[in-house]
Formats: sequence, C-alpha cells, structure tokens
Amino acid sequence: MTINVKANRLILLASLLLAAYLMLILGVTNLGQTRLEQSQHRELELKVGNYASTLEYFFYVTNEDMDTLVEDRVMHAFFANLASGMSMQYGLGSSILRLKNKLVATQKNKTINQKNIYDRFALVGLDGSIIADTYPKSKLLFNIARLKNNKSSDVIIRTVNRLGNNEVQLVKMVTQSGLPTAYLVAILNKDVIFEQLTAQESKDSQSRIELVSENGHSFVWDSLSGKNPTSEPNSNATINFSIPIKNTPFVLNNWFESVNGKSILTSSWFIISLSFLALPVMFGLFYIFIINNANIILRTKVTESKKQHAILSVKNHQLLDEIEKRKISEEKLSYQATHDALTGLPNRSYGNQQLESEIEKAGVNNSSLLVMFIDLDNFKQINDTLGHLAGDEVLKQSTSRLMDSVGSSELLSRLGGDEFLLIVPNLNNQVLAKDYATQVLALFNQPFNWNNQDFFVSISIGMSVYPQDGQNTEQLLANADMAMYSVKQDGRNAFSFYSSDMSSNVQRSLSLDGRLRYAIANNELEIYYQPILNLRTNEIIGAEALMRWNDKKFGMVPPDEFIPLSEKNGLIHQIGEFAIMTACQQAALWQAIAPIHMSINFSSVQFRFCDKLFTQVRYGLMKSGLPADRLDIEITESLLFNHNEEVISLLNKLQSMGVKLTIDDFGTGYSALSYLQKFPFDQLKIDRSFLKNIRKNKSDRELVNAVIAMAKALNLKVIAEGIENQWHVDYLNSIDCEYGQGFHYSKPVPAKEFERLLRDNANKAYREPLKLNIVE
Ligand code: C2E
Ligand code: CA
Ligand code: CA
Repeated sequence: MTINVKANRLILLASLLLAAYLMLILGVTNLGQTRLEQSQHRELELKVGNYASTLEYFFYVTNEDMDTLVEDRVMHAFFANLASGMSMQYGLGSSILRLKNKLVATQKNKTINQKNIYDRFALVGLDGSIIADTYPKSKLLFNIARLKNNKSSDVIIRTVNRLGNNEVQLVKMVTQSGLPTAYLVAILNKDVIFEQLTAQESKDSQSRIELVSENGHSFVWDSLSGKNPTSEPNSNATINFSIPIKNTPFVLNNWFESVNGKSILTSSWFIISLSFLALPVMFGLFYIFIINNANIILRTKVTESKKQHAILSVKNHQLLDEIEKRKISEEKLSYQATHDALTGLPNRSYGNQQLESEIEKAGVNNSSLLVMFIDLDNFKQINDTLGHLAGDEVLKQSTSRLMDSVGSSELLSRLGGDEFLLIVPNLNNQVLAKDYATQVLALFNQPFNWNNQDFFVSISIGMSVYPQDGQNTEQLLANADMAMYSVKQDGRNAFSFYSSDMSSNVQRSLSLDGRLRYAIANNELEIYYQPILNLRTNEIIGAEALMRWNDKKFGMVPPDEFIPLSEKNGLIHQIGEFAIMTACQQAALWQAIAPIHMSINFSSVQFRFCDKLFTQVRYGLMKSGLPADRLDIEITESLLFNHNEEVISLLNKLQSMGVKLTIDDFGTGYSALSYLQKFPFDQLKIDRSFLKNIRKNKSDRELVNAVIAMAKALNLKVIAEGIENQWHVDYLNSIDCEYGQGFHYSKPVPAKEFERLLRDNANKAYREPLKLNIVE
C-alpha cells in the first residue's frame, strides 16, 4: 500500500520535474534567443556602421578626386587661357583637350575592385554650357539654378533623377583667381556604391539596404521583399538601422531579418511542438499513475486479503489455543474432579470408582480384595496446635511414605481429612493382609518434621475383605471404617480387621452425639473425683474432677469417648462450664474438711473462646467462694504448641488471680521442655502410660527420672498419674516424686464418696498409709 503511494508520489514528482524541465528549456532557449538577438543586433550594427563608414570614406575619396581635378594645372591652364582670351583654335582648344584627357584618364584610372568609380566627368560653365564631357553622347542636363546660391568650394553630393534613373552627382565649383568660373560634375558609378553597401550581403542574408537622399531612394538592395523592392519590410520581423552618412546628403537605411524570426527554437511552432512532445510524456505519466492506482487497488486487495488471512490465521491460532486451553482446563478440571489438590492422590469419589471397578474385577476373577482404611492419629491435634500448614505437610509426607511402599497393582486414594484408602487386589490370604498392615504401620515409626521440630504421628488401620466383609463399595468401606474406629477405641497406632460385632459399636458411637446433647440438657453428666495424695504422708491434698456420663441407653460412656466427641460438636464449652461450676462448688464445700486443691481438666478447644473461659472461671470461683489458689487448671501441652497470644494472656491472667496451672499428660505429646520454662506452670503431671511399664521398661524409668529432676529444677510440683500398686509408690518415693493419684489409692468416685474419703483421710494420722476404697 505505502509502496504504491510512494509510486504515485514519484509519478507526480516526475510530472513536476518534466514541467520544470520544459520551463527550463523554454527559459534557456528564450534567454539564448535574446542573447542571440542581442549579438545579432550588435553584429548588424557593426556591419551597418561598416557600410556607413565605407561609404563615407568612398565619398571622401571621390571628393578628394574632385578637389585634385579642380586644382589640377590642366584645369588652371585652361581657365587661365580662357581668361586671357585665347581662342579655341589656338591654344584653348588644346587646353580643353588636355583637360578632357585628364578627366577621361581620371575616370578611367579611378577604380575600386576593377570597377570605375566614375561614370562621367563634365565641366559645366556657370551658364550651364558644357565645357568638357567624358561622355558627350548623352547630353548632360545640368541644373545650376540650385547651385548658384552655394558659394562653397566644397564638393556637393546630390542625386539627380535623369530619365527615371537616379544619378549620384558630385559637383565642385571651379574658381579662377577667387572667382567661380565653372562646375566640375562627376557622375558616380552606382554599381560601385552598390558594391560597397552590399559587400557582406548575400542572396539569403535576408536584408534590405537603401541609400536615401532628400530626392528619394538612390538605390535599393533587397533580399527581403522579393520582387517588390519598394515595399516596406515587416518591421516586427526585422531589425532596422538608419545611419546618416557624414558629409553627404545620404541616409543609409537597413533592414535585417531578426534571428527570432527565422529561429525554430523560439518560434511558437517550436513551443507548440515541444508541448506536443511533452504531451505523450504527460500521458505516459498519467497512464502509469492510473496503472499504479490500479495496482494500489489490486495490491490493497491483495494486502487486504493477506491481512484477512493473517487475522484469520491469528483467529485460528486463538481458537486452537482456546481449544487447547479448554482441553487443558477440562483435563485439569477432570483431574481436579478426580484428584486431591494437596496430595495429588485420587480423591474420595475417584477412589470409590477405583474400588468399584476392582470389586468387579475380583468378582470376575473370583479373587479376594483387601480394603484398607488408614487414619492418622491425633491429626486434629496437629492441626489445632501446629496449624494447618503443618497439618498439610504431615498429609503430604504421609502420602509419599505410603506411595513409596505400595506396589503397582495397589491403589491409594485420599478419602478426605486424614483418611486414606488403600486397595490391595488379588489378596490370597488374611495372613498376607496382616503383614501388609504391619508394614504400613511401620512407615510411621519415623518422626515427622515441622519447623525443625520432630514429632510422631501414628496411624490406625481398619481393614475389610471382599467378598466376605461386603459385596459392594459402601459395605466394604463402612466395615473398614468400623474396624479403624475400633482401633482408635483401643488406643490407636494399630490395625484391625472388620468383625461383625463391630457394627453395633459403630452404631453406638453414631448415636452418642445425640445422646450427649440430651444428657447435657437433662443434667445427666456427673463429676467424679479422684484424690491426689502426698505420697509420703498419704494425705489427700487435692482432687481431680473427672467427667462421667451414665447414659440410660449406653450405660457408662468413658470420657475418652465423649470428651473428643464434645470437642468436635462444640458441647465441650457447656461441659467445661459445668465442670468449673460444679467442681469449684464441691471444692469450696470441702475446704471445711481439708484445704484441698481442685484440679479441673480444660480442653484446648475451650481456649478458642478465652474471654468466655475466663468469665466462667472467675464466675465459678466467685459463685463458690473457692479461693483461687485452690483451683488447679489442667491443660495439655498441645495448647501451648501454637503460641497464641490470647491463650498466653489468659493463662497469665488466671495465674495472677492465684489460680494454679498444671501441665497434664506430660511425656505423651511433644514434651517440649521449653514450654515449661516459658510458661508459668505450677505443677506437672506425668502421664499414666509411663508408670504402666515403669517396672519393666528401663527407658520409661529413666524418662520419669529425668522429668522429675527437671521439674524440681524448675521448681514445679510433680504429680504421678496411674499409681496402681505399692511398687509404683515405693519407686516414686525413691525418686522424690511427692504427689500422685491412681487406682492404688482410689478410682475417681462420686462426690459423696470422695467426701467420705476426704473426711477419713483428714482424721487419720499422716504416717500411716491410708487404706482407701480401692475398686480394682
Ligand atoms: P486425664 O486428665 O489424664 O485423667 C486421668 C485419667 O486417668 C482418668 O480417666 C482416670 O480415671 C485415669 N486414672 C487415674 N488413675 C488411674 C490408674 O491408676 N490406672 C488407670 N488405668 N487409670 C487411671 P478418665 O476419668 O477415664 O478420663 C479420661 C480423660 O478424659 C482424662 O484424662 C481427661 O483428659 C478427660 N476428662 C475427664 N473429665 C474431663 C473434663 O471434665 N473435662 C475435660 N476437658 N476432660 C476430661
Ligand atoms: Ca487430668
Ligand atoms: Ca492425665
């Protein structure tokens, strides 16, 4: 497109240049013509000047001839003889002859270019009589009338018309002793003059020259006017000069054809033809212009279609891109729809699909299929305490551990939360399944790491087998889930196969939720109290408030079952409040018997609403009148793992009120000693699991030793949990563990019973170990 516009511009420029070129040519030729005319003018002027001076000189010469003749002694002799009266016969006759001879000789001798200058000499008397004549044949008519007045001795030059012919005559007065005696007349050869004036002319010189006297044209040279020499030439086309010839009556008139008259270059024809010449060039340019424009249209069309093409191809690309993107996003969507974003494992629905197709295959092949339900233990606690990022990391690491161990035919998926499903096709026998589960359990023997902290996460595995435990996906999954649940109930970190009696257990846990709400609403919860003793003196120094729920339908539900449930469904806040109010009330009443402390368990979940919790505690103390320093709040270290400013400030507030803080279940969780330094604990409870194996397990003993030493160093009171026999008591005493609780002394008992124990204990002497109400 731009190229064509450029071409158009070029054509336009060419036309302009052509026009300029024409103008230039015309200008230059015109200028040249003017110069030429000027030089022609100068040249002609020179020529005409030349003619004039030649003629002038010619007359000068002839005048001299006349003077010489007049002064010649022959002339003088004649007139002297005449004056002396000499007769013709005697001497005068010879004088005339000699004079005549002289004149004839002069006429004969005076030539220019071998042409006689003079046609005739005559000596005429004052009366007009002819004295001597070189051409006596023709009578010379000499008009002296006009000469009479002329007294000058100068030569008179005049033209005389004789017989229709102009003669140029020279007349000079002859004087004798100062008196005029005669006139010498010379008739000039006109041809000589003619020759003088046309010496530089030629037939085609296109000029007209005339010598004019007062009498009229003396002669005309004319190559201009053709046959009519008398007509005036066209003065427009001619250059004319008019020069008077000095000392003569003549004026020399000249006409010359000017150069422009005959110049082709400046003639209008030339200009017209030049314009005509320019015309085809102009047409040519115009034609090119049109062609170019047509080209522009064509090329524009081509460019347009190219553009269109390009746009189309771009559109096409975009379309393809779009399709590709859509494909990818569809793939992504379908991947997202079937896969879990965090772990990249197939999700629940895809896992179910996989299971379904594996069941189908197993049905066809008549083979067995193992369905393994894997659940992380305490995952909620990790999320709550370490945060969701840590939880995510645990899930990812768990996935990679599992993925590393599964074979190519086995299928792993994430059912959601911390639950995984592992499908093992072609199971030959149950023993292999056990081995398999053991291997999977062992994958979690290694600690996890988060923020440079190592911690252990165990798993609980529930298994069901096709076809005996279920015919379809739902049954197999539900039964595996049930088996897993039973593992959780039995203390986690283990595996279990589904057995038909599990169904009723699961049924039970499902309906517990509703039952718990009902129990709270109907005040069916009760607090039991377990005494805490000074192990040396057997004195009851405190009580731990432990929640009890005796459901009409399910009977005694252990707190390990309903407390986590209440934490899930939010009922823990009500249960917690009930514990605070009731336990404080009891403790306040029991102060009259003994100055005991009341230990109340606080769930981490309760600390989600710190203000509410604080209000509850303050209100419980206020309402009961229990001195704040008799209240022990038992929290697990999991609460502290995730530093929450609000929790810390609540703990500080409670402590500044005088409330004692106990770290419960120490040794089971993260056992980060730094917390003990960081937070203002008053007491530390060693988890009962340590005492359980302390007799057999040396490392447990060492750990207990270390914890006690450390607690002492930190100035914390140490309470041992789970004292079940005398050995425990002796051992704890031996390592200076001052306080403890356990079935060896008393199980948790209803308030009334506790009160009796307390009274008994208060009345007994300290040294004697109390025989307490032990229900083994
Ligand atoms: P915990 O705080 O560790 O409570 C001590 C548990 O050890 C009680 O179990 C108690 O019966 C048991 N125990 C005490 N001495 C022995 C012993 O010598 N041998 C054995 N085997 N066990 C002993 P319990 O009452 O079943 O409570 C279980 C858990 O439920 C408690 O563990 C506590 O974490 C939670 N819990 C109980 N009541 C409440 C409550 O009111 N609020 C909250 N948040 N948690 C509660
Ligand atoms: Ca406790
Ligand atoms: Ca405990």
